[in-house]
Amino acid sequence: MQYISTRGGMQPLPYCDALLEGLATDGGLTVPEVMPTVDGETLERWRALTYPQLATEVLGLFATDIPREDLARMTEAAYAPFPDSVVPLREIDGGLTLVGLSEGPTLAFKDMAMQFLGQVVEYALERKGSVLNVLGATSGDTGSAAEHALRGKERISVFMLSPQGRMSAFQRAQMFSIDDENVHNIAVAGVFDDCQNLVKQLAGDLDFKRTQHLGAVNSINLARITAQVVYYFWAWLRATDAGGWTELSITVPSGNFGNILSGFYAKQMGLPIRRLVLAANENNVLDEFFRTGVYRPRSAEQTLATSSPSMDISKASNLERFIFELVDRDPARVVGAWRDLDEQGFVDFTADLARFEDEFGIVSGTSTHADRLATIKGVYEASDDIIDPHTADGVKVAREYVESGVPMLVLETAKPEKFAETIREAIGVDLDYSPELRTMLEAPQHVTELPDDEAALRAFIEQHALR
Ligand SMILES: *Cc1c(COP(=O)(O)O)cnc(C)c1O
Repeated sequence: MQYISTRGGMQPLPYCDALLEGLATDGGLTVPEVMPTVDGETLERWRALTYPQLATEVLGLFATDIPREDLARMTEAAYAPFPDSVVPLREIDGGLTLVGLSEGPTLAFKDMAMQFLGQVVEYALERKGSVLNVLGATSGDTGSAAEHALRGKERISVFMLSPQGRMSAFQRAQMFSIDDENVHNIAVAGVFDDCQNLVKQLAGDLDFKRTQHLGAVNSINLARITAQVVYYFWAWLRATDAGGWTELSITVPSGNFGNILSGFYAKQMGLPIRRLVLAANENNVLDEFFRTGVYRPRSAEQTLATSSPSMDISKASNLERFIFELVDRDPARVVGAWRDLDEQGFVDFTADLARFEDEFGIVSGTSTHADRLATIKGVYEASDDIIDPHTADGVKVAREYVESGVPMLVLETAKPEKFAETIREAIGVDLDYSPELRTMLEAPQHVTELPDDEAALRAFIEQHALR
């Protein structure tokens, strides 16, 4: 299996090379040259597999350049340490089933794919005899998932910028309690946008980027997208165990269109998913797109800070991979769409609107702060179950699309403990932290404070980068 660019200007690459690339060399995103497919017989055979075994099968379709035994070792290393079941399912009221994706170290779904990414990136670097210095900016959640997945790796180090004094105590503890030498927490005197601008400046200096082996592990990373495909196969296999259902629908709390893109890939591969329901919060640029066919990214000022912060996006970095399929894999039309966006501030796919649901099965909805509070409260009262605000966005929108005879799954993308204030606001309950979390909250913290200054960051990286 080779990987090509959505914009058509990159020589095809095998998986291990594509996943170290980030953006394709022509500025597009890497996609499989042909989507692999899975037939019904194979799917039934996969029922008996454990999560790591299933991950080996699914990822094996994408990573054909990795020998099967190496892949099996990596999925085992990534998923065996999860405390309970890797991806547990449970029912709540109204016939909905939650798919728990938050069993990892930072209590949010990004851990799951990042754990595999940590394994496979180190493997790819070893094969190339190379190293990677990950440079990123975080407002809290993505950075901690990356650090926990990459801590202690030999060929990778992490430089993670965060806005000084602007993260929650929980987020600070999750990142700063890490004491591995290859993890560098950098608190910048500024806001998140300042951190992101510093990253852009350094990553835009191609000479510096090359000499310092800088890279990223953001939501467009191919290893993350492909590792997330496994959730959908696992959830389908578990949910159909008992009921004998063949088709079901899945709702995904969405931000950068990463998780739901993986669901879309699973559906394209032949997994019987009836509908993929995209749930947005008030920053509903994607709900607008799937309802009207017009994609209009927003400015930073138009982007609200909500109580489901991991879905606060102004544009959706993975949408280009969906658009590539929408335009029947014609790179010229992808390039044309982004030219329209540059010239007029939006892209118009209204001519294709009917296909969004009929052909691709994607529908969408929006949930607000009031909806989140009401949904958390409703689920608590009816099911005695506490869900986090992002999952609540999913549950709220899922209920609008329930069809009789079709089971509806909702991906649980974080644990409520991470968002204790909103839980208190919704149901008046103070959540207890587990002993492990309390230890983490009290552990000594490791962080370097830097001014919002490119030269200072450059010097720090030059001093500490692997080479
Ligand atoms: C990242 C994240 C999302 C959004 O996922 P995308 O892949 O960006 O669409 C939703 N919920 C939580 C808790 C997250 O951390």
